[in-house]
Amino acid sequence: MASFYFQSLGCRLNQSELEALARQLAARGHRVVDDPAQADICVVNTCAVTAEAERKTRHLLRALARANPRARIAVLGCAATLRPEELASFPNVAWVIPNEEKERAAETLALTPTPLPPSPSPALRERERGWPEGPGEGVRARTRAFVKIQDGCDNACTYCIVHLLRGPVRSRPPEEVVAEIAARVREGYQEAVLTGVNIGAYGRDLGLKSGLAALVAAILARTDLPRLRLSSVEPWDVDESLLALWADPRLCRQLHLPLQSGCEATLQRMGRRMTAAAYAHLVERIRAAVPEMAITTDIIVGFPGEDETEFAESLAFVERMAFARLHVFPFSPRPGTPAAWMEGRVPEPVVRERAARMRELGEHLAARYRRQFLGREMDVLWERRRRDGRWHGLTDNYLQVVTSCPADLHNRITRTRLVQEDDGLLVGEVI
Ligand code: SF4
Repeated sequence: MASFYFQSLGCRLNQSELEALARQLAARGHRVVDDPAQADICVVNTCAVTAEAERKTRHLLRALARANPRARIAVLGCAATLRPEELASFPNVAWVIPNEEKERAAETLALTPTPLPPSPSPALRERERGWPEGPGEGVRARTRAFVKIQDGCDNACTYCIVHLLRGPVRSRPPEEVVAEIAARVREGYQEAVLTGVNIGAYGRDLGLKSGLAALVAAILARTDLPRLRLSSVEPWDVDESLLALWADPRLCRQLHLPLQSGCEATLQRMGRRMTAAAYAHLVERIRAAVPEMAITTDIIVGFPGEDETEFAESLAFVERMAFARLHVFPFSPRPGTPAAWMEGRVPEPVVRERAARMRELGEHLAARYRRQFLGREMDVLWERRRRDGRWHGLTDNYLQVVTSCPADLHNRITRTRLVQEDDGLLVGEVI
């Protein structure tokens, strides 16, 4: 029996994979700990979507080895797939498990013999500083279950390394997903988030038409899950059958629709399958079907060839779409992608300056979106108690709410009046 510490970097898909692995190992009698200083084995699911993500991977591996010199480290995921030799050379790294072998990670790690007894090490000092909560502990304390429904992508956006590292679309059978959600409901989860690399393509490899809509309909019909949330859906995969499902109030009114750029010329160089004009039309259809839908998005700034005119066009388009939240990514050339070789590289200082302007617009739009709910009564799922003692929770349309309440609100959904704003959050009164 070994003690495992888990840490996930990057996307919700990585999080859901690590939670599944933690469950598999716990089911085999292994212990899951939330402090690497107590672990025999530290498992890291890595990300390589940007150069910054890779830097975080290297930083975490060094920090874990310092925190617990006797623990062995297993490196999984996209950075492990992209740089296996390099990561294998890091201190304490005993396993490098690329994406295509991830499904067998539990077998690989479960075979490990129990390591030597712990020795007094500087790790003890590390414990005082406190480590990010691992999925192990998170698995027990979480209110939202991240449920993987598919892997891979068949598109080829020119900047994207994910489809190169994750491979083609592979979908989990619908009954398997419905069964997992039913199990999470029995464990007390109030919300499930469907995740994958490209969930809009769900079921295509199984010959299903509108596979995602069919899966969502099955989950809503066959489970008592209080709230179902979708992670990122490519805009060209949103159809009427999916939109019609928001008639069920259990389906969270949040749709993350990556735009990447608001400029037609930039979108063409990105190899995106939707024009800005078509995107704007889609947003109109969504708002007609679900008026208060929180439409959130990803935007890349500084893509090769993006001059001031193109950037201004993108900025103006984003303002017109009135998103509820923006994730802004400075362009990061990824190995093996066409965009990494494109001419017209934008100087770093200009990329940083554009990212700051786009983020500033994003803050303004997010404030505008949340202020329309002031004075309203909404359901909030309370997730954790903050350091200031207040509870933090989420509405279905992803509004961040805090409240001062003596009762234990963890993992409870309560009717809440949204009374004022506080530093980008809404303050609520539990009714
Ligand atoms: S749709 Fe494009 S950006 Fe998204 S994973 Fe596929 S190739 Fe990458």
